[in-house]
Amino acid sequence: MPGFELFGDKERAQVQDVLDSGVLMRYGFDGMRNGHWKAIELERALEKRMKVKHAQLVSSGTSALTVALVSAGIGAGDEVIMPTFTFVASFESILAIGAVPILVDVDDTMTLDPEAVEKAITTKTKIVMPVHMCGSMADLKALKSICETHGLLLLEDACQAIGGTFEGKPLGSYGDLGCFSFDYVKTITCGEGGAIITNNENYKANADHYSDHGHDHIGEDRGAESHPFLGYNYRISELNAAVGLAQLARLDEFLALQKKNYSVLRKALEDIEGVTFRRVPEGGVGSYAFLTYFLPDADIAKKAHTALGQAGVDACFYWYDNNWHYYRKWEHLIHKTSLGKLPQEVYDRLPDYLTSDFSRSDHWVGRAISCLIKLKWSEEEVRERTDKMVEVLKNLLK
Ligand SMILES: *Cc1c(COP(=O)(O)O)cnc(C)c1O
Repeated sequence: MPGFELFGDKERAQVQDVLDSGVLMRYGFDGMRNGHWKAIELERALEKRMKVKHAQLVSSGTSALTVALVSAGIGAGDEVIMPTFTFVASFESILAIGAVPILVDVDDTMTLDPEAVEKAITTKTKIVMPVHMCGSMADLKALKSICETHGLLLLEDACQAIGGTFEGKPLGSYGDLGCFSFDYVKTITCGEGGAIITNNENYKANADHYSDHGHDHIGEDRGAESHPFLGYNYRISELNAAVGLAQLARLDEFLALQKKNYSVLRKALEDIEGVTFRRVPEGGVGSYAFLTYFLPDADIAKKAHTALGQAGVDACFYWYDNNWHYYRKWEHLIHKTSLGKLPQEVYDRLPDYLTSDFSRSDHWVGRAISCLIKLKWSEEEVRERTDKMVEVLKNLLK
């Protein structure tokens, strides 16, 4: 991660194809486009790669989450369970549809703790939204079982873990719905873009209509299509889809590089006393987009993060202090600050995140360091990083 490291001729050729036809929109203009339907082609390719019946492309990962929630019938006042460690898109998409984000602790998988999820369920809960952060997954088996018991849906945010699997199924395909992002820093990128995958025909039809102003896409003439319900514009463009096509074809190549580089780093750290690793739930295989490990306490983790930076080991993250990824810094959510007026029902029912107890999350996230795994590193660079990282950690832990 990220896929832009390896842009090349394939991406260029795909984009040129679209420019040659002159049709940048994914719908209509049948006569002009010389048979170029990049978005449709990418949807078929995603369905095949993710072994699902339906894929719907949209303009971003955030819109994928929004559209997925609406498509599954989630709406005003419904409670959505999400983790304390994720990207801000999780609660943005929930609030965008008037639903209520219910933050829940993460465990040593760095994703939703199934026990904490069970405790957070109320009569208003409709869906559980685990986020497979940094290339590894939530305990999907446990979460699915909880969802089945309580009649809830399961939506996987697989934006950071494309290519990983759980019980042999591609991440994103295990729950009722799954979402991907193809923004500029993701494993597969097309500039801006996202996708929803599902085996549910109804959700797919809803997503297809909702993401294009409610158009039903029936008949020859776009102007004469009817609108079964209100929608918005969450469309992807042909240019973005074209880049995505080239990148998806290279996913396995990218995953192999991530795994190779990850394995060298991990093996070296395994010998250091005091370093433990993020737990991968039984049945799961990550995408190796990051290497995430724990240090004995938050103080050492903070020092390690600073020392790694000073030693020139870039792209290592201490999420506990991060502005985007951990609840402690989500001041706008905590203080309910919104540009437009939040619906009163949402405002009143948003939990008091100022006083909520997330000490379990703090325990794990406070001790964790995550290192991004790049695709383009040479063997020499990986060795150098490994040596520096080992030196820094051994120094701190002796
Ligand atoms: C990137 C990301 C998103 C949002 O994707 P965008 O395409 O940037 O809108 C959502 N969830 C997670 C976990 C992400 O990393």
